[in-house]
Amino acid sequence: MKTITILSGKGGVGKSSITASLSILLAKKYKIVAVDCDVDAPNLGLLFGIKKFKNIEKVSTNYKAFTNKKINKCKNIDLVNICAFHAISLKGKVPVINKLLCEGCGACKLLCPEGIELKKVKNAEVGETKTRYGFYIVSGQLKIGESGSGNVVEVVKERARKIAKKINADFIVVDSSAGIGCQVIASIRDSDYVVAIREPTPSALSDLKRVLKVVEHFKIPYGIVINKFDINKRFAKKIENFARKSEITIIGKLPYDKSFVEALVNLEPVVVYNKKFEKLFLDILNNVNYYLK
Ligand code: SF4
Repeated sequence: MKTITILSGKGGVGKSSITASLSILLAKKYKIVAVDCDVDAPNLGLLFGIKKFKNIEKVSTNYKAFTNKKINKCKNIDLVNICAFHAISLKGKVPVINKLLCEGCGACKLLCPEGIELKKVKNAEVGETKTRYGFYIVSGQLKIGESGSGNVVEVVKERARKIAKKINADFIVVDSSAGIGCQVIASIRDSDYVVAIREPTPSALSDLKRVLKVVEHFKIPYGIVINKFDINKRFAKKIENFARKSEITIIGKLPYDKSFVEALVNLEPVVVYNKKFEKLFLDILNNVNYYLK
């Protein structure tokens, strides 16, 4: 079983849309499980027309600080200042904790071990369902104001791995979050191949270099897909030159086409909405397969 992760240094460049189409085509030949690891803003399910997930499990991957009665006796005047997240204020002389701001770091408990407790909180939900295309999707969602997203991604992937094992899947296809933070690291950590999506915009190269550094750290093979390559051919060329000099393979180039937007509006992957794109996506998959052999 191989894991392919699709990521982008920046959001809004078509990562989930591309993940959805690659999943559809892979599922025609192989058993797959799709995974939405963008737990801040999961929307891969929407692209498969899913309105509700099943077997929802509330998960707990983070702590928050809670005060108890003994806090009234706390004389430590540094308690407000120790919190780097400005979660502690005074009500009269008594410290109170703003749960939305608390990151659960535990620094306040070190100052006032008697009056403060760290408790695990339910910070996310993870669910699964079968898509109308016959394969499973697993998705996680962080609750508002909660942290611990990297650990939530681990839980989401573990659920996906269990399903994949049960159905003897050939591939797990991971839709990572954007950026270079803990969610991305948790998403790509045990991947066999990474597909990095870029659009030819002025920030493209610096974003791409940053995210590829993360991938290289884990020594995972990767290739670049330039999405909407024809909206700015000059910048597309810059990405291609960078790739050539760095010996990175461009595994696909997708054009700008209103079908991509229409497919999103219709809650369908573009390869379902407009069959003419199948060939372009199959070429990407053939390139990925070549590096997975
Ligand atoms: S656990 Fe950390 S973040 Fe939360 S209130 Fe205490 S010091 Fe602030």
